[in-house]
Amino acid sequence: MSSAENTEKSETCGFRAEVLTIFPDMFPGYLAHSLAGKGLEAGLWALKTLDIRDFSRDKHRSVDDTPAGGGPGMVMRADILGDAIDHARADSPASRPIVYMSPRGKRFDQDMAEAWLEAGGVTVLCGRFEGVDERVLEARGVTEVSLGDFILSGGEPAAMAMLDAVVRLIPGVMGKTETLNEESFTSGLLEYPHYTRPTVWEGREIPEVLTSGHHGKIAEWRLAKAEETTRLRRPDLWSTYEQVQKKAASKGD
Ligand code: SAH
Repeated sequence: MSSAENTEKSETCGFRAEVLTIFPDMFPGYLAHSLAGKGLEAGLWALKTLDIRDFSRDKHRSVDDTPAGGGPGMVMRADILGDAIDHARADSPASRPIVYMSPRGKRFDQDMAEAWLEAGGVTVLCGRFEGVDERVLEARGVTEVSLGDFILSGGEPAAMAMLDAVVRLIPGVMGKTETLNEESFTSGLLEYPHYTRPTVWEGREIPEVLTSGHHGKIAEWRLAKAEETTRLRRPDLWSTYEQVQKKAASKGD
Protein backbone atom coordinates (compact mmCIF):
# COMPACT_ATOMS: atom_id res chain seq x y z
CA MET A 1 0.00 0.00 0.00
CA SER A 2 1.39 3.46 -0.87
CA SER A 3 1.77 6.04 1.88
CA ALA A 4 -0.78 8.30 0.17
CA GLU A 5 -3.29 5.50 0.35
CA ASN A 6 -2.40 4.99 3.98
CA THR A 7 -3.11 8.60 4.90
CA GLU A 8 -6.39 8.58 3.05
CA LYS A 9 -7.48 5.44 4.84
CA SER A 10 -6.57 6.67 8.30
CA GLU A 11 -8.63 9.82 7.76
CA THR A 12 -11.81 7.88 7.03
CA CYS A 13 -11.12 4.99 9.38
CA GLY A 14 -13.73 5.09 12.14
CA PHE A 15 -12.52 2.17 14.20
CA ARG A 16 -9.39 0.06 14.66
CA ALA A 17 -9.33 -3.39 16.15
CA GLU A 18 -6.28 -5.41 17.11
CA VAL A 19 -6.98 -9.09 17.68
CA LEU A 20 -4.54 -11.36 19.50
CA THR A 21 -5.07 -15.03 18.78
CA ILE A 22 -3.23 -18.30 18.18
CA PHE A 23 -5.48 -18.77 15.13
CA PRO A 24 -4.79 -15.63 13.03
CA ASP A 25 -6.05 -17.40 9.90
CA MET A 26 -9.57 -17.30 11.33
CA PHE A 27 -9.62 -13.50 10.74
CA PRO A 28 -11.15 -11.53 9.14
CA GLY A 29 -13.18 -14.68 8.32
CA TYR A 30 -16.81 -13.85 8.79
CA LEU A 31 -15.95 -10.14 9.02
CA ALA A 32 -14.64 -10.14 5.43
CA HIS A 33 -18.18 -10.68 4.15
CA SER A 34 -21.22 -8.50 3.57
CA LEU A 35 -21.33 -4.93 4.88
CA ALA A 36 -18.55 -5.34 7.47
CA GLY A 37 -16.29 -6.73 4.72
CA LYS A 38 -17.12 -3.89 2.34
CA GLY A 39 -16.42 -1.41 5.13
CA LEU A 40 -13.08 -3.09 5.82
CA GLU A 41 -12.13 -2.95 2.16
CA ALA A 42 -13.18 0.70 1.93
CA GLY A 43 -11.03 1.56 4.98
CA LEU A 44 -14.01 2.57 7.14
CA TRP A 45 -12.51 0.35 9.80
CA ALA A 46 -9.21 -1.51 10.18
CA LEU A 47 -8.28 -4.90 11.56
CA LYS A 48 -4.82 -5.99 12.69
CA THR A 49 -4.49 -9.66 13.62
CA LEU A 50 -1.48 -10.74 15.70
CA ASP A 51 -0.35 -14.31 16.16
CA ILE A 52 0.37 -14.81 19.86
CA ARG A 53 2.81 -17.59 18.92
CA ASP A 54 5.11 -14.96 17.35
CA PHE A 55 5.84 -13.84 20.92
CA SER A 56 6.74 -17.32 22.16
CA ARG A 57 10.16 -17.85 23.72
CA ASP A 58 10.92 -21.32 22.42
CA LYS A 59 11.38 -23.08 19.13
CA HIS A 60 8.10 -24.97 19.53
CA ARG A 61 6.28 -21.62 19.58
CA SER A 62 4.47 -22.63 22.75
CA VAL A 63 2.37 -20.05 24.55
CA ASP A 64 0.95 -22.08 27.46
CA ASP A 65 2.12 -23.94 30.54
CA THR A 66 0.71 -26.10 33.31
CA PRO A 67 -1.52 -24.40 35.93
CA ALA A 68 0.13 -23.37 39.19
CA GLY A 69 -1.49 -25.41 41.95
CA GLY A 70 -2.24 -28.28 39.60
CA GLY A 71 -5.47 -29.23 37.87
CA PRO A 72 -6.49 -29.98 34.31
CA GLY A 73 -5.55 -28.14 31.13
CA MET A 74 -3.04 -25.45 30.30
CA VAL A 75 -2.83 -21.71 30.94
CA MET A 76 -1.60 -19.02 28.53
CA ARG A 77 1.55 -17.37 29.89
CA ALA A 78 1.57 -13.79 31.20
CA ASP A 79 5.02 -12.93 29.82
CA ILE A 80 4.11 -13.93 26.25
CA LEU A 81 0.69 -12.26 26.36
CA GLY A 82 2.20 -9.12 27.94
CA ASP A 83 4.65 -8.78 25.03
CA ALA A 84 1.90 -9.45 22.46
CA ILE A 85 -0.39 -6.81 24.01
CA ASP A 86 2.44 -4.24 24.17
CA HIS A 87 3.30 -4.84 20.54
CA ALA A 88 -0.35 -4.61 19.44
CA ARG A 89 -0.82 -1.33 21.31
CA ALA A 90 2.47 0.31 20.36
CA ASP A 91 0.70 3.03 18.37
CA SER A 92 -2.81 3.08 19.77
CA PRO A 93 -4.04 5.65 22.31
CA ALA A 94 -4.11 4.39 25.93
CA SER A 95 -7.79 5.38 26.16
CA ARG A 96 -8.82 2.49 23.90
CA PRO A 97 -10.01 -0.55 25.84
CA ILE A 98 -8.12 -3.84 26.04
CA VAL A 99 -10.56 -6.72 26.46
CA TYR A 100 -10.19 -10.41 27.15
CA MET A 101 -12.90 -12.69 25.79
CA SER A 102 -13.96 -14.53 28.92
CA PRO A 103 -17.06 -16.28 30.28
CA ARG A 104 -16.26 -14.62 33.64
CA GLY A 105 -16.55 -11.15 32.15
CA LYS A 106 -19.29 -8.56 31.96
CA ARG A 107 -21.90 -9.58 29.39
CA PHE A 108 -21.35 -7.80 26.06
CA ASP A 109 -24.25 -5.57 25.01
CA GLN A 110 -25.23 -2.74 22.68
CA ASP A 111 -24.01 -0.07 25.12
CA MET A 112 -20.57 -1.67 25.14
CA ALA A 113 -20.53 -1.82 21.33
CA GLU A 114 -21.29 1.91 21.26
CA ALA A 115 -18.60 2.66 23.87
CA TRP A 116 -15.93 0.81 21.87
CA LEU A 117 -16.87 2.71 18.73
CA GLU A 118 -16.72 5.97 20.69
CA ALA A 119 -13.20 5.02 21.90
CA GLY A 120 -12.16 4.61 18.25
CA GLY A 121 -10.82 1.11 18.69
CA VAL A 122 -10.28 -1.93 20.86
CA THR A 123 -7.63 -4.57 21.50
CA VAL A 124 -9.15 -8.05 21.81
CA LEU A 125 -7.37 -10.96 23.45
CA CYS A 126 -8.77 -14.37 22.45
CA GLY A 127 -8.10 -17.06 25.02
CA ARG A 128 -7.64 -20.79 24.46
CA PHE A 129 -7.03 -23.76 26.77
CA GLU A 130 -8.17 -23.09 30.38
CA GLY A 131 -7.63 -19.35 29.97
CA VAL A 132 -4.87 -16.83 30.70
CA ASP A 133 -2.57 -16.05 33.63
CA GLU A 134 -4.47 -13.58 35.85
CA ARG A 135 -1.41 -11.31 36.26
CA VAL A 136 -1.47 -10.11 32.66
CA LEU A 137 -5.07 -8.98 33.08
CA GLU A 138 -4.13 -6.94 36.16
CA ALA A 139 -0.86 -5.56 34.79
CA ARG A 140 -2.28 -4.37 31.45
CA GLY A 141 -5.66 -3.14 32.73
CA VAL A 142 -7.57 -5.71 30.72
CA THR A 143 -11.37 -5.89 31.04
CA GLU A 144 -13.02 -9.30 30.81
CA VAL A 145 -16.02 -9.42 28.48
CA SER A 146 -18.34 -12.38 27.90
CA LEU A 147 -20.49 -13.25 24.91
CA GLY A 148 -22.96 -15.08 27.14
CA ASP A 149 -23.37 -17.73 29.78
CA PHE A 150 -21.86 -20.65 27.90
CA ILE A 151 -18.34 -21.95 27.27
CA LEU A 152 -16.71 -21.67 23.85
CA SER A 153 -13.48 -23.48 22.97
CA GLY A 154 -11.81 -20.16 22.26
CA GLY A 155 -12.40 -16.42 22.24
CA GLU A 156 -12.34 -16.08 18.43
CA PRO A 157 -16.08 -16.47 17.68
CA ALA A 158 -16.86 -14.10 20.56
CA ALA A 159 -14.41 -11.52 19.16
CA MET A 160 -15.99 -11.76 15.71
CA ALA A 161 -19.52 -11.40 17.08
CA MET A 162 -18.57 -8.35 19.17
CA LEU A 163 -16.59 -6.67 16.40
CA ASP A 164 -19.51 -7.20 14.01
CA ALA A 165 -21.81 -5.45 16.48
CA VAL A 166 -19.43 -2.45 16.63
CA VAL A 167 -18.53 -2.23 12.97
CA ARG A 168 -22.15 -2.03 11.78
CA LEU A 169 -22.50 1.15 13.87
CA ILE A 170 -19.73 2.95 11.92
CA PRO A 171 -21.29 5.64 9.72
CA GLY A 172 -21.30 4.39 6.13
CA VAL A 173 -21.05 0.68 6.91
CA MET A 174 -24.79 0.06 6.97
CA GLY A 175 -26.90 1.45 4.16
CA LYS A 176 -29.54 3.37 6.11
CA THR A 177 -29.04 4.90 9.53
CA GLU A 178 -32.79 4.59 10.22
CA THR A 179 -32.31 0.81 10.27
CA LEU A 180 -29.99 1.22 13.23
CA ASN A 181 -32.30 3.57 15.13
CA GLU A 182 -35.21 1.14 15.03
CA GLU A 183 -33.33 -1.97 16.05
CA SER A 184 -33.77 -3.97 19.23
CA PHE A 185 -32.00 -2.48 22.29
CA THR A 186 -31.40 0.95 20.71
CA SER A 187 -34.73 2.20 22.05
CA GLY A 188 -34.69 -0.06 25.11
CA LEU A 189 -37.27 -2.33 23.45
CA LEU A 190 -37.05 -5.47 21.33
CA GLU A 191 -38.00 -4.87 17.73
CA TYR A 192 -41.53 -5.22 16.31
CA PRO A 193 -42.24 -8.21 13.96
CA HIS A 194 -41.49 -7.96 10.24
CA TYR A 195 -43.50 -9.08 7.19
CA THR A 196 -42.97 -8.99 3.42
CA ARG A 197 -44.54 -10.43 0.26
CA PRO A 198 -46.43 -12.66 -0.43
CA THR A 199 -49.39 -10.94 1.23
CA VAL A 200 -50.95 -14.31 2.01
CA TRP A 201 -48.72 -17.32 2.77
CA GLU A 202 -50.14 -20.69 3.80
CA GLY A 203 -53.38 -18.92 4.68
CA ARG A 204 -51.59 -16.41 6.94
CA GLU A 205 -52.14 -12.75 6.17
CA ILE A 206 -49.93 -9.75 6.87
CA PRO A 207 -51.54 -7.64 9.67
CA GLU A 208 -53.96 -5.30 7.90
CA VAL A 209 -52.59 -2.09 9.36
CA LEU A 210 -49.24 -2.69 7.61
CA THR A 211 -50.86 -2.62 4.20
CA SER A 212 -53.09 0.39 5.03
CA GLY A 213 -50.50 3.00 4.02
CA HIS A 214 -51.40 4.93 7.18
CA HIS A 215 -47.99 5.84 8.61
CA GLY A 216 -49.24 7.08 11.97
CA LYS A 217 -51.24 3.91 12.61
CA ILE A 218 -48.32 1.73 11.45
CA ALA A 219 -45.96 3.45 13.88
CA GLU A 220 -48.49 3.03 16.70
CA TRP A 221 -48.96 -0.68 15.92
CA ARG A 222 -45.19 -1.26 15.78
CA LEU A 223 -44.61 0.45 19.11
CA ALA A 224 -47.43 -1.56 20.72
CA LYS A 225 -45.95 -4.82 19.34
CA ALA A 226 -42.43 -3.88 20.44
CA GLU A 227 -43.74 -3.15 23.94
CA GLU A 228 -45.74 -6.37 24.10
CA THR A 229 -42.81 -8.52 22.92
CA THR A 230 -40.42 -6.88 25.39
CA ARG A 231 -42.87 -7.23 28.30
CA LEU A 232 -43.44 -10.93 27.59
CA ARG A 233 -39.90 -11.98 26.67
CA ARG A 234 -37.60 -9.70 28.62
CA PRO A 235 -39.01 -8.51 31.96
CA ASP A 236 -35.55 -7.08 32.76
CA LEU A 237 -35.58 -4.72 29.75
CA TRP A 238 -39.27 -3.99 30.29
CA SER A 239 -38.82 -2.73 33.84
CA THR A 240 -35.98 -0.39 32.76
CA TYR A 241 -38.13 0.86 29.86
CA GLU A 242 -41.08 1.53 32.18
CA GLN A 243 -38.87 3.51 34.56
CA VAL A 244 -37.50 5.61 31.69
CA GLN A 245 -41.05 6.27 30.43
CA LYS A 246 -42.23 7.27 33.92
CA LYS A 247 -39.31 9.66 34.36
CA ALA A 248 -39.96 11.23 30.95
CA ALA A 249 -43.67 11.60 31.80
CA SER A 250 -42.96 13.24 35.17
CA LYS A 251 -40.52 15.66 33.52
CA GLY A 252 -43.25 16.62 31.07
CA ASP A 253 -45.70 17.52 33.93
N1 SAH B 1 -11.78 -22.43 31.98
C1 SAH B 1 -12.55 -21.33 31.54
C2 SAH B 1 -13.10 -21.55 30.11
C3 SAH B 1 -12.03 -21.62 29.07
S1 SAH B 1 -12.69 -21.72 27.45
C4 SAH B 1 -13.73 -21.09 32.52
O1 SAH B 1 -14.25 -22.04 33.05
O2 SAH B 1 -14.10 -19.92 32.69
C5 SAH B 1 -11.33 -21.16 26.48
C6 SAH B 1 -11.37 -19.71 26.01
O3 SAH B 1 -12.56 -19.49 25.28
C7 SAH B 1 -11.39 -18.68 27.12
O4 SAH B 1 -10.09 -18.35 27.52
C8 SAH B 1 -12.08 -17.50 26.47
O5 SAH B 1 -11.16 -16.66 25.78
C9 SAH B 1 -12.99 -18.15 25.44
N2 SAH B 1 -14.41 -18.17 25.86
C10 SAH B 1 -15.10 -19.24 26.29
N3 SAH B 1 -16.37 -18.94 26.56
C11 SAH B 1 -16.52 -17.62 26.30
C12 SAH B 1 -17.62 -16.71 26.40
N4 SAH B 1 -18.80 -17.08 26.84
N5 SAH B 1 -17.40 -15.44 26.04
C13 SAH B 1 -16.19 -15.03 25.60
N6 SAH B 1 -15.13 -15.85 25.49
C14 SAH B 1 -15.27 -17.13 25.83
